[in-house]
Amino acid sequence: MLWKRHKVMYDIGMKNKEIFALYKKYGAPNYGRLPLAIVSGKGAIAVDANGKKYLDLVSGLAVNALGHAPKPIEKAISKQAAKLVHTSNLFYTIPQGLLARELVKLAFPSKALFVNSGAEAVESAIKLARKYHYDKKTNRTEIIAMDRSFHGRTYGALSATGQKKYHVGFKPLLPGFKHVPFGDIAALEKSINKKTAAVIIEPVQGEGGVHPAAKGYLKKVRSLCGKSGALLIFDEVQSGMGRTGKWFAFQHYGVKPDIMTLAKGLAGGFPIGAMLARSDVMDSFGPGTHASTFGGGPLACSAALAVIAEIKKKNLLQNAAKVGKESIRILKKLKKEFKSIKEVRGMGLMIGIEVDFPCGDIVTESLKKGLIINCAAGNVIRFLPPLDVSSAQMKKGIKILGDVLCKKIS
Ligand code: PLP
Repeated sequence: MLWKRHKVMYDIGMKNKEIFALYKKYGAPNYGRLPLAIVSGKGAIAVDANGKKYLDLVSGLAVNALGHAPKPIEKAISKQAAKLVHTSNLFYTIPQGLLARELVKLAFPSKALFVNSGAEAVESAIKLARKYHYDKKTNRTEIIAMDRSFHGRTYGALSATGQKKYHVGFKPLLPGFKHVPFGDIAALEKSINKKTAAVIIEPVQGEGGVHPAAKGYLKKVRSLCGKSGALLIFDEVQSGMGRTGKWFAFQHYGVKPDIMTLAKGLAGGFPIGAMLARSDVMDSFGPGTHASTFGGGPLACSAALAVIAEIKKKNLLQNAAKVGKESIRILKKLKKEFKSIKEVRGMGLMIGIEVDFPCGDIVTESLKKGLIINCAAGNVIRFLPPLDVSSAQMKKGIKILGDVLCKKIS
């Protein structure tokens, strides 16, 4: 009886439609899901429950840094699970200590705090900024965020998010948040004052439609924050961990933040978030001030260490930079063929193609042709492939996209 029940619950022979029915009856309806249930994969190939293969150039949403079912992650997790799956943060663990050291070495002089998601990392950054100023007795509590930004769905992160559509139905938001246009230094200069605790920016806005910060802008923001005494937070949840061809997007701009948030690709699909902060700032999180039961667990940290080692071993930063540049060049050629393509933007393997119509249909049509892409901000077709994607895979994906655009527009 027990076996039978088990078989019904976890029957791997289930087909797409049976899985959709489960969700319809038992799942929360908060996601607009595409009509496939992914059951397995390898690298940039995903396989659905009906056995159809797809070229997955979104990798979760910038999460599967090493593609599907990567051996290094499998090995790291299994090895770690055989030793220690969890212990509380009342104790020390080897993977957490090693990961903190690794990230700090890659990023900027700082200390690391671990959580479970991007929103939690942002939440921690906001709390830390306020606590730091509280300890300094500066009376600074306000956070300045950017229009069109996305920082997550928890209340602090949502209040920082500069897109009204995400706020609908959830007011009142947290007090003390202001928004200014991304890229407009004069607007920031006008807004920043003695009450500003921190400015939070995605160096490359992701959910807002793939907008890299203009050259020089982040340097000016850095300088304004320095002069005013506000902390600078870079939200690199999406742009971090090699996605743009460097470990972190801020490294393209020659500026360092005071605080940085990470998640998504950090452990290649195992849930984790991290917040790095200048040591003197992080020291405001004294014992008992902030915590997370699962944050920095041994499995997540082992997976992240495996991802970092693989990025180094396989030169994946170089691959992301090279394949990204080449793909953007090919997409710019495609733009010449289609008037509907307004702009091709991106950095490394964070690529957006802005079109002059809603791009949801393009995603569904591409799916029918075996390609997984994504639509951000309503009209930006987005590629976020694994960091080890090949030129040939990107070319294949762009070819399918071209065919779909051709059919849609003609
Ligand atoms: N910050 C940025 C820049 C993001 O792109 C996202 C998610 O897309 C988040 C924060 C929220 O991350 P999570 O969904 O893991 O909470």
